[in-house]
Amino acid sequence: MATKFALKPLFIVMPDGVTKTFWFDGNGKITVGNGTFVQPVANSFSLVQVEDCPFATKLCGSVCYVHRLEKAEAEVHSKYRYNSVTIREVLRDHTYAGTVREMFASYIYAYARKGFRWHVSGDIFSLEYAEFIAAICKMTPGVMQWIYTRSFPYVEPLLNIENLAINLSADAENYAKALVLHERHGLRMCYMTVDGSLPPDLPAGSVIFPSHELRGRELPDPKQAPWWQTLAPQQKRMVCPPDFFGQSEHLRCGPCRKCLL
Ligand code: SF4
Repeated sequence: MATKFALKPLFIVMPDGVTKTFWFDGNGKITVGNGTFVQPVANSFSLVQVEDCPFATKLCGSVCYVHRLEKAEAEVHSKYRYNSVTIREVLRDHTYAGTVREMFASYIYAYARKGFRWHVSGDIFSLEYAEFIAAICKMTPGVMQWIYTRSFPYVEPLLNIENLAINLSADAENYAKALVLHERHGLRMCYMTVDGSLPPDLPAGSVIFPSHELRGRELPDPKQAPWWQTLAPQQKRMVCPPDFFGQSEHLRCGPCRKCLL
């Protein structure tokens, strides 16, 4: 079954009467306890791929899954661009930013109490934005949140927040830098492989995201995929199940939680 998407607007009236609109999005793969595979809820806040990823590598920029989403789900993607502009406007004004933080926290409590993902698309584009995310996580204790990032220089404000799981998005181009942060702060490595190769020292607890051509989801028996056959048992356990085997009610972030803990 094709991935279903969810969109929900949040209209915020600022103290000066100006209204700013943000859009939350979600989909069957990332929905957690708030929704189901066929009825996902909007439990994510997203921006534009690559343009809002200041530390994107050439590799991830070239194979980013959001390029496909941009064509297949044009309405959803148009909201990413809308968010990208509006969040920058808000962060330039302390009063606006304070109001938006409170309203984001209220939204998360109301609609994503079982789990909220920062960014299906986009990344932390500035230190101020990292602080904005950190503040909202701290305003929503008890709501598990997770983020993937290549913006390693902006990760500091997000460290040691009890309800936020930080996933270091790594590939062959930025692996060495990710490894430094992993070793320093114990952050999880999420490794994307395009050609099938994997670092021999990939830390225990990492998650592997294989690009499309490596996946087994189109095969009658996914485990017959040539790449799968090359993996050691501990590497197989690291692979994102819905990415490799295909998405379903049982194969999605909610039941899996590899990146959420
Ligand atoms: S490994 Fe699990 S938690 Fe991580 S993206 Fe895949 S399904 Fe979601």
